[in-house]
Amino acid sequence: MPAMAEPEKDLMDEDTRKVLREAFEMLKEDVMLEVYVQEGQNEEFNAVTVRLMKAIAELSPKIKVDVNDLKGEKAKERGVTRSPSVLIAPDKYNIRFTGAPVGEEGISFIQTLLRVSLGESTLTPDSKAKLAKLGEKRRIQVFVSPTCPFCPGEVISAFKAAIERPDLVSAEAVEATENLDLARQIGLGGVPHTIVNGVTVSKGLQPEERFIDNLISVRPFVERAEEVRARPEKEDVQETDVLVIGGGPAGLTASIYLERSGLRTVVLEKSVLGGQVTTTPVVENWPGQKSIPGAKLMELLGAQARDYAQIHENEPVLELKVGKRMEAQTPRRRYLARALVLTMGASHRKLGVAGEDRFAGRGVAYCATCDGFLYKDREVIVAGGGSSALTDALYLHSLGAFVTIVHRKDGLRAEQRLQDMFARTGRPVVLNSVIEAIMGKEKVESVRIKDVQTGNTRTLPVEGVFVAIGEDPASELARDIGVKLDEQKFIIVDRNMRTSIPRVYAAGDITGGVRQIVTATGAGAVAAVSAFEDLGDPYWKREK
Ligand code: NAP
Repeated sequence: MPAMAEPEKDLMDEDTRKVLREAFEMLKEDVMLEVYVQEGQNEEFNAVTVRLMKAIAELSPKIKVDVNDLKGEKAKERGVTRSPSVLIAPDKYNIRFTGAPVGEEGISFIQTLLRVSLGESTLTPDSKAKLAKLGEKRRIQVFVSPTCPFCPGEVISAFKAAIERPDLVSAEAVEATENLDLARQIGLGGVPHTIVNGVTVSKGLQPEERFIDNLISVRPFVERAEEVRARPEKEDVQETDVLVIGGGPAGLTASIYLERSGLRTVVLEKSVLGGQVTTTPVVENWPGQKSIPGAKLMELLGAQARDYAQIHENEPVLELKVGKRMEAQTPRRRYLARALVLTMGASHRKLGVAGEDRFAGRGVAYCATCDGFLYKDREVIVAGGGSSALTDALYLHSLGAFVTIVHRKDGLRAEQRLQDMFARTGRPVVLNSVIEAIMGKEKVESVRIKDVQTGNTRTLPVEGVFVAIGEDPASELARDIGVKLDEQKFIIVDRNMRTSIPRVYAAGDITGGVRQIVTATGAGAVAAVSAFEDLGDPYWKREK
């Protein structure tokens, strides 16, 4: 391939190129990237895909690119019908992106390229053992969007399975924004959405263990699928000084401070790093940064934390125990530590009205950043009056959705600046009103709203309901080990972030309060400093 005269500066900056060049030094086998495009179909994404693949191939002699016409013979042979499509090492594996592997999926693309070259799926030993017993073909499709931070995790599990069992497993990541017709065919209401052999097995990111179980069983998805409870078959124990449970701003900051004070630290995150900030379209109150997408801010914090601590994503804690040694059991192993820092944050609150569960993922959504693209030119309601509701409403408006805010009180409580920005959109805010029911046949078609002052009800035709009514603390594990909670289930801490149990600390949204990124990071630092002081000279012993 001829060298490009001008490096693709708009696609990758020099820092990214440097990082990738270094990563690609570990490539073993050559990797062929087959690109399929057709003029007139997703034109701008075709161009980006071809340029990106060529720019990546420039970074290593082991990466080859072959650009093909979708109408050609080769496309027929490979069964490729969509433009753009990228097949990774198609002579050996059945792995493809239907749509450009850009945005968040850049991560799954690069990781898969490395795994394919090394010929190693990097699945856990348990997952490998389960897949070894698979006896029938599996065709995985994961629907994703470029702004969904949870999607790469799901795609990576799918591609790992395809690398582990190339004889039986094929995996495809479908960019829903570029393939809206496919998305509509399956009634896509949110991403990631995983289909195996034509059956929807999951909506949302699954830990690897559950992904493999569902891949094998092809069990149809049911709302509120139970958490993974399976323990690893073989006992595996890891010791560390401090375990941080939860990889949001508080936990990541704590891990940086802990390691810098000399304490070995492991962070266990059940999903992806960054917590709720990851899905915040724009953050405008992080000091020193006028405006930054939440996902970008958390990517920077995550990268910094990774330089210090061991960070395990997509690894939920199933059980905690306190004692001389603190214990945390995950589906992968048992961790032993001298102290715990609890930073599990909070999870989105539900409206608790008829139709909410039934239409979850079919019009009812909790992540505007992930699912908003489905609602361009459509009527949507954002429920809530806080800063999250207003941020989501503004984001949806920017995507071209017709937004109405519905709030139960006579005034919004969001930051004034956000209220002013929303007022400028000219879209309605319906106050003193609650959603009573979400209605439709297959998906959301309307909501019934009640005016709490007059008692009058009316039906609004809408296709989407974005719920942004605050969060409930994810404090179940803390409750189970006997940490004192307040009446709203937030963990009670003192000013040093100590909980009611010695050597157990908490920080961030799980402790309630103002719930800002800046206060969560501050509290994470305080928790870390307290842990450091206590492990050296325990205050509870001094007090006796
Ligand atoms: P929040 O501030 O607690 O607001 C929740 C909103 O939902 C309130 O308006 C509340 O109504 C309403 N609500 C609660 N339960 C409800 C129910 N069952 N039915 C209907 N409505 C209900 O939560 P948030 O907006 O998620 O924000 C959380 C924290 O993050 C806050 O500290 C916020 O400042 C911060 N944040 C900041 C930004 C920013 O600075 N740009 C962006 C996002 C979030 P009431 O008013 O009646 O209680």
